[in-house]
Amino acid sequence: MLRRFGGGAMRLSERVKAATSLRELAERSGVAWDQRKSAPARGDYWAPCPFHAERSASFHVVEPAGAGGWFKCFGCGVKGSAVDFVMHRDGLGVVDALKLLADAAGIDKPEDQARLAERAAELDRRRAEGEAAAAAEAARRLEVARRLWREAEPAGDVVEAYLEARGVRLAAIGGVPPSLRLHRALEFWAEGQDRRRDRPAHVGPAMIGAIGRGELRGVHRTWITPTGRARLGDGAKVPKKMIGATGAIYGQPVRFCPTREGIVVGEGIETTLAAWAGLLEAGLGRWGAEAALSLGALAGPEDSLGRGPGRGTGGKPHPSALPDLASAAPHWLPPEGVRAVLILAEGSSRDPEAARRHGERALAKLVARGIEAELRLPGGRWDLDRDFADVALESRK
Ligand SMILES: [Zn+2]
Repeated sequence: MLRRFGGGAMRLSERVKAATSLRELAERSGVAWDQRKSAPARGDYWAPCPFHAERSASFHVVEPAGAGGWFKCFGCGVKGSAVDFVMHRDGLGVVDALKLLADAAGIDKPEDQARLAERAAELDRRRAEGEAAAAAEAARRLEVARRLWREAEPAGDVVEAYLEARGVRLAAIGGVPPSLRLHRALEFWAEGQDRRRDRPAHVGPAMIGAIGRGELRGVHRTWITPTGRARLGDGAKVPKKMIGATGAIYGQPVRFCPTREGIVVGEGIETTLAAWAGLLEAGLGRWGAEAALSLGALAGPEDSLGRGPGRGTGGKPHPSALPDLASAAPHWLPPEGVRAVLILAEGSSRDPEAARRHGERALAKLVARGIEAELRLPGGRWDLDRDFADVALESRK
């Protein structure tokens, strides 16, 4: 009797959650995972949020094997279980949402133990299949990255001319770092192109950056000319690309020298090198450098409390300036032994506020870990890399 009355509804909701894959539910609702940020082997998924308009992936689902999943959006703040997901998605109350999921899971009666066990076993089997497929895809992407790195040659005149044109004074940093190579004729395939039918949207020299400290986790690709970024037929820059072990490359940097006492870190390879050259020219040789490749990865997961009231580009809320310090995946952190970090918060000129907030979050994440850190923002001239060298120097003389 206690079973049916005391806590009966609670028991049903626990059963429903155990028998429902939140990941599959989200996928059926049109959520498309960010392959670079997600780590399926850990049951960790990121996607643009289905509950607010955004292009970045702030919607986080955690679904470890053998447990019902939970979600949280770091953009709009919605969170909860599969039941909450359905309540938000369909505008239902808790009873109707539970009923919908109970029906979908074939849980007719609270006593239907056999059906429930069968359903849970099926869910585990599907999860294992999904994890195996994700692991195979991550291995395939890593193999592609390794092949591209092998095909590339030590950076020569094209990469040197490109970096100098972007404001990097190579003499100051001892030439192009060995983590950057040249691929003489790399194909660029645009989104939606069919490799069996189409021709690549661009073929030409590319700067290949090795992602990972010590071990190669992936590669970063920038299509270049001796005077700047390569362009597509319509005049747009050929987009930069990354490939590597899915989930394992988010927050992994391209490093430019062995670990030193201090480290300057930015999003882009060019910006970071320009700022580093400025520090070394000023005689600050204790500084090393890394490019985190993504401002979001540099800053790490957000605490939604620090989200901006304003709206940035594309109508999305500004990112949070506060880090989620409880997160198990803080993304970029300096290597062991580094005592000071100089963060370069570069961003698009259209939304400097977003860059500032990412920068403040990165700063708070490091300070909370006892690391001495400083944040540098460019002084209104967002597109000039040389400006970052000056910015980096401001308080380091
Ligand atoms: Zn959201």
